[in-house]
Amino acid sequence: MSSSLQSLRGFADILPGASALWRDVEQRLRRTVSAYGYQEIRLPVLERTELFARSIGEITDIVEKEMYTFEDRNGESLTLRPEGTAGCVRAALQHGLLHGAQPRLWYMGPMFRYERPQKGRFRQFHQIGAEVFGLDGPDVDAEMILMTGRMLRAIGLTDVRLEINSLGTPEARRAYRERLQAHLRKHEDVLDDDARRRLESNPLRVLDSKNPAMREVIASAPSLLDALDEESEAHFGRLRELLDAAGQPYTVNERLVRGLDYYSRTVFEWVSDRLGAQGTVLAGGRYDGLVAQLGGRATPAIGFAAGIERLVALVVDAEADAAEGAAPAVDAYMVIMGEAPRGEAMRLAERLRDRLPALRLQLNSGGGSFKSQFKRADRSGARYALIVAEEELAEGRVGLKDLRGEGDQVRLDEDALVGQLAAVATRRDDINGGG
Ligand code: ATP
Ligand code: MG
Repeated sequence: MSSSLQSLRGFADILPGASALWRDVEQRLRRTVSAYGYQEIRLPVLERTELFARSIGEITDIVEKEMYTFEDRNGESLTLRPEGTAGCVRAALQHGLLHGAQPRLWYMGPMFRYERPQKGRFRQFHQIGAEVFGLDGPDVDAEMILMTGRMLRAIGLTDVRLEINSLGTPEARRAYRERLQAHLRKHEDVLDDDARRRLESNPLRVLDSKNPAMREVIASAPSLLDALDEESEAHFGRLRELLDAAGQPYTVNERLVRGLDYYSRTVFEWVSDRLGAQGTVLAGGRYDGLVAQLGGRATPAIGFAAGIERLVALVVDAEADAAEGAAPAVDAYMVIMGEAPRGEAMRLAERLRDRLPALRLQLNSGGGSFKSQFKRADRSGARYALIVAEEELAEGRVGLKDLRGEGDQVRLDEDALVGQLAAVATRRDDINGGG
């Protein structure tokens, strides 16, 4: 195939072998945020460039070099959304969702950033994110952090750790900024080009650098926490008390800043050690100033976003560890002895699907010997083979063989068969559609 007909670099196809797992992960995440009273908002993928420049910040990686920006046919500058918060705030303002209300919103979908593609880093990637508006207490921060922890557990991830920090108010950060600049200037020789540029414009962003050559300068920088204003300090203290009371472990990472400018006070990240440099799977924080910055009434807010590619990669990893391999596409495979019972076999299959909507049942097609049909059943990954033969059908019975267990084939009537299959079908309830 000529390369001009291949997908773009950093734009992945999610193939049938992976889509069921994606759907399962998305479903579990969705259910968890719903369980905390969040409601879905669906946002456009394309917005005016100005929205992102004004919210994310002009001097950030995203706005400086990662956005897919182009002019439409009218010469208006548009950008494929690189993140979801800006659009969510825009929509909340535009539709008056913030008037006398404290909406809790979640969104999910593709985001676009022109980055160097590598493991865990794509140009089109997917996020699930959520935002809470109008509440400024640390209890909201704590609850969101607990919710994100539950989201990760809901998809089977236990091997992730929580890091938190406080960025304080913009005023407190300004004082800190000068001390940080002084420190960085002393080590100007080891700063890379980006850092040197940021030294004047946005020195806090230097702390977020992933360049290993700068690790030491960053580690020896003055701590942002020492510069906190009193109120932010109390806010952060209460947040930590609430996490302690909830039994939620965390580490305070004084160098944790976020790559976007709109954050204030609480920031947090869930990090895995299994994804190399792309270890952050979920990140969030307060952005009490953003709504006003975009023209609304001053409204505190907090939000997070999780990268679904990275979550799925970790789930695949965890499942491989559990020696289970990728999720099979079917639960049961129907082997049909000869062509005579096919009509009845198909009717039976339809009845089973009626009674067990979550059951994934595949019929053998294209004939074949008993042995070759069983081979296909095995390769399908199904847990059970159903064996339909003429004489047994006449007695109202169907053969059932556990392909992953030791037991012999058993002959069951239809009700007993449904009973057996119900276990696999309910376990898979949250894959294949539904909800
Ligand atoms: P990183 O430091 O890895 O570049 P970021 O700070 O730019 O991340 P955010 O803007 O906070 O990331 O986005 C939240 C989450 O979205 C990240 O923690 C990550 O899981 C995911 N994410 C961000 N950029 C990408 C990308 N290019 N490809 C895949 N996932 C991404
Ligand atoms: Mg980034």
